[in-house]
Amino acid sequence: PSPLGPTPKLVIDLERLAQLPKEKAGALARYAATIQSQRGDYNGKVLSIRQEDLRSLAVIYDKSPSELTEELIGWGVLDAEARRAVESF
Ligand code: C2E
Ligand code: C2E
Ligand code: C2E
Repeated sequence: PSPLGPTPKLVIDLERLAQLPKEKAGALARYAATIQSQRGDYNGKVLSIRQEDLRSLAVIYDKSPSELTEELIGWGVLDAEARRAVESF
């Protein structure tokens, strides 16, 4: 167990995601929309995703999970806490 507490969740900021250009964020936006539709969870400002989903997204973006996490933090789509979620990979 981490001294900083439980592993933080990966929480996507859907409002920020919607503001980003499609060339950058299109694949992530489609992935998030698919999860929302599978859950029937359409009205949230944020979406908690599985750690496994970040692994899949890293493959899609041809990056390591930690590289993708840094990029998403830079875009403002994940907050800095997400770094700790990915350290446990
Ligand atoms: P499933 O994976 O068979 O999960 C069935 C139900 O178990 C989910 O229904 C949800 O109520 C619960 N569940 C499973 N894992 C978790 C979890 O980590 N946290 C929480 N809070 N509940 C969990 P739900 O939400 O209606 O999702 C239906 C199906 O949609 C899921 O079936 C899965 O196939 C897909 N899905 C939904 N959200 C995600 C996601 O974030 N990532 C992926 N890969 N698939 C998802
Ligand atoms: P939390 O996980 O810190 O989430 C805080 C708030 O962020 C939630 O308040 C909700 O407004 C939003 N949020 C986070 N993830 C999602 C998401 O995937 N979809 C949507 N639509 N909104 C999201 P809320 O709903 O009042 O929940 C308060 C707390 O209750 C959550 O704090 C969590 O601790 C617990 N909770 C709610 N739903 C679940 C769940 O499915 N599984 C688990 N384990 N806890 C849940
Ligand atoms: P959470 O609901 O607080 O779940 C935290 C962790 O507990 C999950 O991390 C997963 O490792 C485990 N867990 C919870 N419920 C289940 C379950 O039904 N089956 C299994 N095998 N494991 C479960 P994970 O997967 O990284 O998910 C992070 C967060 O993403 C979840 O936090 C929840 O907010 C959201 N989430 C993931 N999958 C689903 C889903 O299918 N439906 C919904 N509504 N939310 C999901």
